[in-house]
Amino acid sequence: MDSLSGRSAIVTGGARGIGAAVVRSLTEEDFGVVVADILEREGRELADRLGDAAIFHVLDVTDETQWRQTLRDAEATYGPPAVLINNAGIVDFAGVEAESPAMFRHVVDVNLYGSWLGMHVCAPAIRAAGGGVIVNMSSTAGLIGYAGVGGYVASKWGLRGVTKAAALELGPDNVRVCSVHPGPIHTPMTAVLSESTAAYQPLPRFGEPDEVAAMVRFLVTEATFSTGSEFVCDGGATAGRTLDLADVS
Ligand code: NAP
Repeated sequence: MDSLSGRSAIVTGGARGIGAAVVRSLTEEDFGVVVADILEREGRELADRLGDAAIFHVLDVTDETQWRQTLRDAEATYGPPAVLINNAGIVDFAGVEAESPAMFRHVVDVNLYGSWLGMHVCAPAIRAAGGGVIVNMSSTAGLIGYAGVGGYVASKWGLRGVTKAAALELGPDNVRVCSVHPGPIHTPMTAVLSESTAAYQPLPRFGEPDEVAAMVRFLVTEATFSTGSEFVCDGGATAGRTLDLADVS
């Protein structure tokens, strides 16, 4: 951790939701944080509130030129990058038959290609600076299937896979790469979901963005022997299903 602190961190989708919680927690760890998002007003307001500890940068994660500009600004403002959090993501609530081909491609483009592009652009700089940590925000939808969000599920399984490929390639140069798999979390993305969505979980509630940020912070600052692994933060959603003993004859 000592070799990382004081360097820069980039958080995509950092303007709100889980990303904003991660931004706040990394500033508490002495990183200079780039809030990188297409959502300008919220992103700038967050960075302004954090003072010298954060700047906002417009970044569409599917745009390589913008990625290179974001990295240059991060380096110029806070020094070599130590941390990349590929958190930006979108969902399209539509089943396999209903989802339009264009939306399927768009979801995969943002969630999977955008995260891969972040690693493609930033990993050489993190490696050259002596190492660091990359966290890819997958989902429980990268561990199991969900009806009604096929593009999202495809993108999150893909992100889990490319996390392992990157971990294998970058580990020898002291760059750790892990995926985080939240269950339902209270953010604008899930505002359309009923609270009853979480009723079957062992912890029968939605999580909060700070609970995911705490796991990301642990991965960045403490988990020095972890790479290529999945870190689940889902209230037990993927633990299994409870057998109702009333159904046992
Ligand atoms: P959110 O509140 O919708 O925040 C996502 C942020 O990413 C928004 O500011 C969004 O901007 C931005 N974004 C969208 N497309 C982008 C692009 N092309 N380039 C850069 N930024 C872009 O979502 P969240 O719930 O915090 O989710 C954060 C991550 O956690 C996502 O990867 C999501 O899949 C994952 N996750 C969330 C949950 C959950 O229950 N909330 C569960 C599992 C995994 P716009 O608003 O302008 O689109």
